[in-house]
Amino acid sequence: MKAVRVVRNVRDMHRVADRMRMDGLRIGLVPTMGYLHEGHASLMRQIGRVTDRTVVSVFVNPAQFGPDEDFKTYPRDFERDLAMVRSEGGALVYAPSAAEMYPDGYATYLEVERLADHLCGASRPGHFRGVATVVTKLFSAVKPHAAIFGQKDAQQAGVVRRTVTDLNLDVEIMVAPTVREADGLAKSSRNRYLTPRQRRRAAVLFRVLQEGRDLVLAGERRASVVIDAMCRRVSGSPGVEVDYVTAVDAEAFRPVEELGGRVLLAAAVRFGESRLIDNIVVETERRAVQEIR
Ligand code: AMP
Repeated sequence: MKAVRVVRNVRDMHRVADRMRMDGLRIGLVPTMGYLHEGHASLMRQIGRVTDRTVVSVFVNPAQFGPDEDFKTYPRDFERDLAMVRSEGGALVYAPSAAEMYPDGYATYLEVERLADHLCGASRPGHFRGVATVVTKLFSAVKPHAAIFGQKDAQQAGVVRRTVTDLNLDVEIMVAPTVREADGLAKSSRNRYLTPRQRRRAAVLFRVLQEGRDLVLAGERRASVVIDAMCRRVSGSPGVEVDYVTAVDAEAFRPVEELGGRVLLAAAVRFGESRLIDNIVVETERRAVQEIR
């Protein structure tokens, strides 16, 4: 297995990226906040099929956390991350410090209008401003030909696509299906916060979305009926606090009254200190699908 190169600053990253491009190699980027798991590994494998060198960024981005959120306690284990990147055949880990990304005097942030108004954008003000900013900075540092994101964070993927389109960035955006545990819980670095009992209960999140999907596939088109059924189910389960449970347009992330086309069933719930999110895309005209595109 080849060693993985670690790059800590943007100047070196530019040099390495320029070199790869000069050698005619296609660069694939997997942006992450570290504490890597099978979901991230699947992203690495998928982008590895269409690019020549996989770069994994590991950066817990302070700009996307609210003041009362888990920035300080977010799980970190860099050595373990490196081992996983190595075993997946990744070429390089870009792991800048916060001071490298946001030095004194830093003043530039990206605001993505409308797409960030609902779901996580509503419950985490400023979150997608931080996401759009850091992803754009990672693109300018790593100079990737393609970058891959997970469907688990569907709204994030939508915001990134919008940013790339609006700013004419020359990066192909790929979206990969959600990798789940055996009971359906989406893999997440934050699952680590769960106590064994919360972990057992957390499977309700995906079950609720599946029940919503079954209702839509059975012909229910009133969003309020589907949302009420999902809400009742999730708030009836013990130890859960609902942030949102909803059905929205899968491209615009906007609430709709009548479900049609591609519908995103999405939920964010808290189990104690942990806030978990998940979603399913349903094609009202066809069977349920996972991928955004
Ligand atoms: P994170 O490190 O949680 O910020 O995630 C980095 C990337 O991995 C994002 O594009 C996520 O959507 C993606 N990701 C996280 N969990 C999963 C999962 N269970 N399946 C697929 N992709 C995931």
